[in-house]
Amino acid sequence: MSMYKKVDQKFDAALTSAEIQFEPVNPEVHSLENGVDVVYTLAPQLEKKPSSKTEADTTTKQSPWLPPDESLLVETLDDYSVVLNKYPVVKNHCLLVSKEHIPQALPLGEEDWATAIELLRTLNKESKTRHVGFFNSGVESGASVDHKHIQFVTIPEDFKPFPDTVKDTNDDEVYADNRVPFAHFIRNVPRNADADDLIFRYSQILGELLTRSFKTEFNKKTNDVHYNLVFTEEWILGVPRTKAKTDDGISINALGTIGMFLAKNESDLAIIKEKNLDLVKDVGYPFEKIEKHAPDFSGYTLY
Ligand code: AMP
Repeated sequence: MSMYKKVDQKFDAALTSAEIQFEPVNPEVHSLENGVDVVYTLAPQLEKKPSSKTEADTTTKQSPWLPPDESLLVETLDDYSVVLNKYPVVKNHCLLVSKEHIPQALPLGEEDWATAIELLRTLNKESKTRHVGFFNSGVESGASVDHKHIQFVTIPEDFKPFPDTVKDTNDDEVYADNRVPFAHFIRNVPRNADADDLIFRYSQILGELLTRSFKTEFNKKTNDVHYNLVFTEEWILGVPRTKAKTDDGISINALGTIGMFLAKNESDLAIIKEKNLDLVKDVGYPFEKIEKHAPDFSGYTLY
């Protein structure tokens, strides 16, 4: 049975046995004036979901994946399990979780990338629907479980995430899209890139997250890097974060950074529709242009 079919069947079974609660909702896709797409999803079930820094499973012992619940377990791989999200926001919302406990704040390694990209390509191919992978790292990024996990959801059919412009730029460096009001880093991914190549591109984004001026400012408070990562077969996006929720109390995770907003009630939905991507600036940093500098050796004597 194909991986996607297993996810699909397990989801339906978990729904029937009430292991997961899910009310399908219609996402509303909207194009902003500058051409950037956003999508609003009203998901009242989010009210019931544990949030970061509250009832969340934040210790090794409390991890929900030691071991994963049989009714949510889709597939066991060498060092990972594919599981269903207990609080899904879209049908077939699934996660790749490490078998052993590994802290969520550690960077993704070569095995993580190899397994994640294979799962993404398989889900895309088998479902004939485009998916995004995402990784919330650090509590200020909106992560609620401190056990390494990468999540996967389908992208609404008529929604074009803003980093898709990477296909038109032919840019072979980290770059930022100036239509977006918050600091972010995009790196293109060639078709069939292997894990080494993905690691290289991801480490370029991590380098930016670690060393740019806003990070230095943030470093005065903490040594951790809090960031969201979103990836498709075509690109990787990294967004630095300062806090998990906006001052209006709206939680933003990696999906929010590509304009996929989830509202738990009508009043949050109204705020989201008014502020759109400025919400991400509120929980991150203002847009920064990425200067491409070549090293300047003019003051050095070369031997
Ligand atoms: P994050 O909030 O980014 O750390 O992602 C953790 C995800 O795990 C959330 O989307 C939760 O809905 C999901 N989750 C929490 N508890 C469980 C559980 N017991 N089984 C499966 N998924 C869970």
